[in-house]
Amino acid sequence: MIAQLGLRRLQKHFRAYCELDRWSFDPRYTNGRCPICGWAPEGAPTAPAWLMLARRVDWEIFGLLVLAIFLVVLGLVVAQAAGFTPPTTHSHLPASGIASGARIASGAR
Ligand SMILES: [Zn+2]
Repeated sequence: MIAQLGLRRLQKHFRAYCELDRWSFDPRYTNGRCPICGWAPEGAPTAPAWLMLARRVDWEIFGLLVLAIFLVVLGLVVAQAAGFTPPTTHSHLPASGIASGARIASGAR
């Protein structure tokens, strides 16, 4: 109740009045239309400001990009933890500078 009043104070107060139904309403929460007869007042916002902003973003492409980045990072973390070296290096050759510490230790014995 208190939070709702605070939010209303932050946003620009907009109320429409339907002459036909003698009904006052906030068009932001009724898709910009009168909830009784469907009359749309001119220049009325159709949604709250945050929802207008969220509709402009293509969330499917955004989610796909986030997933791709996450999978690359996850792959790097797993490769690091497993001591994975690039496929161009041959494991049977004498230990080079690229080999991990675990391999150098086992090769010394
Ligand atoms: Zn109406």
